[in-house]
Amino acid sequence: MTAQDSPSQADLTATDDIGWAVRLLAATPTHEHRDPRLLRQWARAADEFGSALAPVACTARIEERDGGLERGLLARYTSRPPTVELYTDTIALADRVVDARGWRAWYPPGSVRAAALAHEAVHAHLHHGPARAALKRALGHSALRLGRWRVAGHVAGAEEVAAHAYARTVCGLGRSPLLLTAALAAETETGTTPPPARDARREN
Ligand SMILES: [Zn+2]
Repeated sequence: MTAQDSPSQADLTATDDIGWAVRLLAATPTHEHRDPRLLRQWARAADEFGSALAPVACTARIEERDGGLERGLLARYTSRPPTVELYTDTIALADRVVDARGWRAWYPPGSVRAAALAHEAVHAHLHHGPARAALKRALGHSALRLGRWRVAGHVAGAEEVAAHAYARTVCGLGRSPLLLTAALAAETETGTTPPPARDARREN
């Protein structure tokens, strides 16, 4: 079966990378009633932040394992000890999806795994370093104003958008891994993009 034959192959490519980032934010708890224009502004800011990040070395241990499809995971970062789990069955499915949809020019051979590693490296970087505050500043969301002081608020899902933008940039992908994530979700019939930050388990 080719990509064109399947009725489920809605044209995911018609939504651009920022559009997918907006959808990701909109699907994230706390954003249900946000103004779409604000979500778009945050999506752009997080995308720009991730694209502009200096290359981040991944010093976490890498564990390749099976069982990602049943758990709905492609990769995940856990902080204790710093470990990136790569789910080889999901990565293999993602590669089949790339071929079936004719997207190989956007996601060259080996790039799904490389993008997953890059993405998780950003979670590790934001978990351990001062970059988390920089991302908050870039988003400019004020949780609180105390006189002339502004307390930068957390924007759920923004880290996820930034990690995808970083992976797209450093891996030289033609489209964001967010598009591939959407195709994977369609493939596994969950119909939605996976919950953001599901791949970044915090234990602190
Ligand atoms: Zn992530």
